[in-house]
Amino acid sequence: MAIDRTLCIVKPDAVAAGNTGNILAFLEGKGARFRAMKLVQLNRAQAEGFYAEHKGRGFFGELIEFMTSGPCLLVMLEGDNVQHDYRNVWMGQTDPAQAAEGTLRKRFAESKGKNAVHGSDSPEAAARELAYFFSGCFDVV
Ligand code: ATP
Ligand code: MG
Repeated sequence: MAIDRTLCIVKPDAVAAGNTGNILAFLEGKGARFRAMKLVQLNRAQAEGFYAEHKGRGFFGELIEFMTSGPCLLVMLEGDNVQHDYRNVWMGQTDPAQAAEGTLRKRFAESKGKNAVHGSDSPEAAARELAYFFSGCFDVV
């Protein structure tokens, strides 16, 4: 197993609902370590750049409105196989109605749009997304 890093975002719905601490405790309970964190309210340019792959999709406007609607917590996770396990085992499907029991989205997501957390979907995405938010931040990337 590789020790690796990935990006978790506690999205604005989960921060507003007071679920930040529960989500962090869940991740610590799984053995993930926190390497860096920032609580920020994204502006439109930052949110559009982050989700550039979805530009042109029908839900893009709604996604950007939501992601800029309030503060979110950017978390650099580190640990054995953490990119894979966070995304594919702990986080749950995009739509909470399809998320497995015991996943973050099953427990905390309201809907397919307001779904509590983000996770990088590949090692390449993790590297790109961590650089997007944490580049130049101390020695972390
Ligand atoms: P994320 O990238 O946030 O981790 P994901 O990889 O599970 O989520 P994507 O297909 O990348 O899902 O979609 C990005 C985000 O856009 C989703 O998490 C969700 O908030 C929103 N989204 C996706 N599809 C829809 C939809 N059909 N209606 C509303 N919002 C959607
Ligand atoms: Mg995605």
